[in-house]
Amino acid sequence: MKILIIEDEPKTGKYLRRGLAEAGFVADVATDGRDGLHLALTENYDLAVLDVMLPGIDGWEVLREMRRAGRQFPVLFLTARDQVDDRVKGLELGADDYLVKPFAFSELLARVRTLLRRGNVGQASENLKVADLELNLLRRRIMRAGKRINLTAKEFALLELMMRRHGEVLPRSLIASQVWDMNFDSDTNVIDVAVRRLRAKIDDDFDIKLIRTLRGMGYILEAPEP
Ligand code: CA
Repeated sequence: MKILIIEDEPKTGKYLRRGLAEAGFVADVATDGRDGLHLALTENYDLAVLDVMLPGIDGWEVLREMRRAGRQFPVLFLTARDQVDDRVKGLELGADDYLVKPFAFSELLARVRTLLRRGNVGQASENLKVADLELNLLRRRIMRAGKRINLTAKEFALLELMMRRHGEVLPRSLIASQVWDMNFDSDTNVIDVAVRRLRAKIDDDFDIKLIRTLRGMGYILEAPEP
């Protein structure tokens, strides 16, 4: 899952980016309104964390332009001003939630996860299920055939992507950009190593294998034909 942070305070931007990365998200940071808007309109994001007071154009304007251009991903507003008027204005313009600075990172992370789940209603709820493999987004829990499986944050992000798009061949370049925030480099085997580790946890102890390699094409997670 990819998140856009638009925040002009470098310390806050870095702190958010690092925290979100540790939680398994890929995050881009823009430090002014125009750069942020440009990214919002040209890249694919699942959510934006948007500061109100920004150089260039402010958070209101960024949000208005994003929505006008049809970008519908959820937006969490960050502001130092705890004014009722601001909240109303933000929500009227199409913000999805509001957080007043200073905030605890755990609070931000909880809001982000709630918004992402809400944003995915219809295509996926908080539970993803493929055969006897289940992923619970709310509890960050993986079960296979009733047995609990522990994953790292990156492994969880990788599995979440593969389960959301199960039955689809995922090229390494797509996995690299969605899970690692890197451009595909044919010399790197980061993805292959991560998939191998994930397989060891998800598939090794079970007769039915869900993750397959398609040579030269990528990886696929799917339930085998009965
Ligand atoms: Ca600011």
